This record gives sequence, structure tokens and C-alpha cells, in this order.
Amino acid sequence: MSIKVRLLGSAVSHWATDPWARGSWSLIGRHGTPQDRVALGTPIGDRLRIAGEATHPTRAGMTHGAYEQGVAAATGAIELGHTSVAVVGAGMAGLGAARTLHDHGVQVQIWEARDRIGGRTAGVDVASGAFDLGANWLQQYDDNVLARLAEKLNLTTIPTDFGNPLVPGAGPVPDALEDELRKRLASAAPQAGVAEVLDDWLRDPAPWTAAEITRFVDAEIVMDAGAPLDWLSARHGFEPGVGEGDRWIVGGYRLLTTHLATGLDIHLNHPVDRIRVDPDRVTLHAGSAPGGNTTLEADAVIVTVPLPVLAAGAITFDPPLPPDHQAALTHLGAGRVEKVILRFDRRFWPEHGYYRVHGPAPRCVSEWLDATAADGTPTLVGLFAGPWLDTLWAGPDDAIATRCAAVIQEALG
Ligand SMILES: Cc1cc2nc3c(=O)[nH]c(=O)nc-3n(C[C@H](O)[C@H](O)[C@H](O)COP(=O)(O)OP(=O)(O)OC[C@H]3O[C@@H](n4cnc5c(N)ncnc54)[C@H](O)[C@@H]3O)c2cc1C
Repeated sequence: MSIKVRLLGSAVSHWATDPWARGSWSLIGRHGTPQDRVALGTPIGDRLRIAGEATHPTRAGMTHGAYEQGVAAATGAIELGHTSVAVVGAGMAGLGAARTLHDHGVQVQIWEARDRIGGRTAGVDVASGAFDLGANWLQQYDDNVLARLAEKLNLTTIPTDFGNPLVPGAGPVPDALEDELRKRLASAAPQAGVAEVLDDWLRDPAPWTAAEITRFVDAEIVMDAGAPLDWLSARHGFEPGVGEGDRWIVGGYRLLTTHLATGLDIHLNHPVDRIRVDPDRVTLHAGSAPGGNTTLEADAVIVTVPLPVLAAGAITFDPPLPPDHQAALTHLGAGRVEKVILRFDRRFWPEHGYYRVHGPAPRCVSEWLDATAADGTPTLVGLFAGPWLDTLWAGPDDAIATRCAAVIQEALG
């Protein structure tokens, strides 16, 4: 470390081990296709529907996709004439569903497992500043319903130039490399994983070097998914997402979620463990809910819990989910991308806005947002993916933050 700096505060995410997330965002595995997302979101009779980011065919893994799916599920329930609806989960999908139902005069309760709303949008206070440990950006900004809401609320948002990261030790990536990657992925065998395509390419990398290709794949796919490349679908695993024009919210996503939750009947600490669907009603059960408030009856239920939570069987469905839904749960999965927020007493990095750091081994990658504009205190928000998480994310949070700070100081200090 060339400059002596002091860490004023830090926060660290644990999405992979969080029992109510079990991963960062949904992905399509080598045995899956986007049709699995559609299958998962297909209504099951008139009374049960799964929503959430994993069910969006083109905007999966993003807050506005989750929100849209929640609104769509609620609209379906309204069209069916339901007068009381239960919503499981108070993330973007659940809030979108409940807001829509409430605004149409439908009686709605949200049952949420955590002691807070927001799900994988997770506001955190670090050294007197408000930041996000989950979603950060309003992606696909021009066509993003939550971006329009942020504008309506006059929130301050700041663009990130994703096309121009500062990458220590590497030059700009030629466009032709990206074109070639996309071509190879699109023409892969139906059930091939990304690793197969990459191995094949590296056998004959010219006109690029193997190092250039590996770095590019780490930046574009490993950082974007955080999943093993032999599991991730070559054809479908590289979905639309981060891009030019994405903006992050000063003050964090909680400015949106608290607005959406205003006036809603939300029951925190209510982890639903069973859902029974009868011909005339649904019954939710949450065995560990406080105050003996363990069952809820309604005309219909919208379930927005993350895909890996469903796949792990955290909720028992009676009758069981149909075969296509169950197949989707095995074809889709989630990766691991963890986040760190670091606030320093002084800036040691060049002003650029967005940075990428490649680790000591292939597949180890991090990207960094300079979030100093939040309140003027030098702040970096880092996202980590790849095998180095096994060692970086060990022990107490302070130790993890210190290791992450060393990574970025070594790269940019
Ligand atoms: C590190 C990270 C960075 C990200 N960055 C971005 C970004 O910049 N931009 C972007 O658009 N997206 C980003 N995402 C993805 C985005 O956060 C999610 O796609 C979106 O928030 C998912 O919303 P959801 O409502 O589908 O699920 P969730 O937000 O996960 O909501 C589901 C809710 O269900 C609750 N729940 C789970 N089990 C139960 C149960 N049994 N009973 C009751 N409740 C239960 C959970 O606690 C949770 O509150 C990021 C995610 C992560 C982890």
C-alpha cells in the first residue's frame, strides 16, 4: 500500500449464506432456457402465482424486472376478481404486487421473513452515509419503471460509465472481442456450458491472446453471474443487464422501497413455510411468526421469494408445484456476487468513477464504484465474484473489509 489511509467504516454482504436469498440473482443453467423463467411465472390455477426477478423472461436479475412481475401477478389477481390476496416477500416484486392490489382496493397482506422490507435491495448506514448492500443501479435506465419513479420522487441519481472502466494493467477491450464472444455463445450446443465454449476458444485464441480472452470473459460473464462457468448456459447464461446509462441512487434504494411500502399492511418476521391451495381459498402458514399469528387465509397468493429459496424447499406447497414449475427450479439457479462498502478518510484512487480489478488467478474479479458523491466522504463500493471469495469472505466482517480494502489499494493506490 503506497498511501496510508484509514477506514472510517465498512459493510459487507453475505448473499450466498443469507437463508432468505441463498444467492445473488437468478441465472440460467446449462439445462435451462428462458422458457423456464416463463414456466415458473405461469399462474398455477386461479389462486397461486410465483413472481419475482427469476420469472422475467428478459429483465431477470434486476429490480425493475422483479417489480414488473409483481405488478403483472397483481393485475392477474384483480382481473380474476379476488378481493383478498396474500403476498409472500417484501422485495421489489412483493412491493410492486401489494402496491398495485392496495391501490385497486384489494385487501392485501405481505408476509415477510426478514425484520425489514426490500429483500435484495438492502440499505445500510456506513459512517453516517446511506448505501446499498444489494442492488445499486437502476439498469436499462431509459426503459425502467423504477427509474421513472425515482424521477417522480426527485431522487438524485448518478450515471456510471460501464463502457469505460479503469482497469489497472489492461488496455481497452476491442469491440470485435465482444462480437466474437457473443457469436461463439450463440452457436454453442444446446446444453453446453460457458466453460466448454471458452476452453474451445482458448485452444485457438488468435488474433487475441489467451490472457485477453480470459480477462474479457471474467469481466463480462464471471462478474455478471458469479456462477461456475461449467454450470452456466452458454446460449442463455449471458442475459441483458448492466449497460450504458445505468444510474445509482444517492441515498440508496430504500428511498424507493419505503415510498412503495407506504400504507401497506406488512408483517415482518413472518417466514412462510407452507401454502395450501383449496378450491375456494389459500392458506399460508408461518410456524415461527411472532404472537401466534401463524396462519392467513385469502382468495389468492403471490409468492415472490427468491428462486433458490423455493428450490431449497423452504415452502411446502399443498398440492405440490406442477412439473414444469419444478423443472424450472432445477434448470435455473443463482450465483454468488458479494458486495463491500468502504469509507476512507482520504481518497487514494484516481477520479474515474468505475474501476475493475482482476485478482491473482483467472475468474477472480471485482468491480468498483466511486460513491464519494453520496456525501463527499471518499467511498468505494466493491462487487466481488469468483473463487477468491472463498478466502476473501472468511472470518468477521471487519477482516473481510480490510482484505477488500487491500485489494483496491494495491490496484489503485
Ligand atoms: C449484490 C447485488 C447487487 C445487485 N445489483 C443490482 C443492480 O445494481 N440493479 C438491479 O436492478 N438489480 C441488482 N441486483 C438484483 C436485484 O436486487 C434483485 O433482482 C431484486 O431486488 C429481486 O427482487 P425480488 O422481489 O424478486 O426478490 P427479493 O428482493 O429477494 O425479495 C424476496 C423477499 O422474500 C423474502 N422471503 C424469502 N423467503 C421467505 C419466506 N419463506 N417467507 C416470507 N418471505 C420470504 C425475502 O426476505 C425477500 O424480502 C443485485 C443483487 C445483489 C445481491
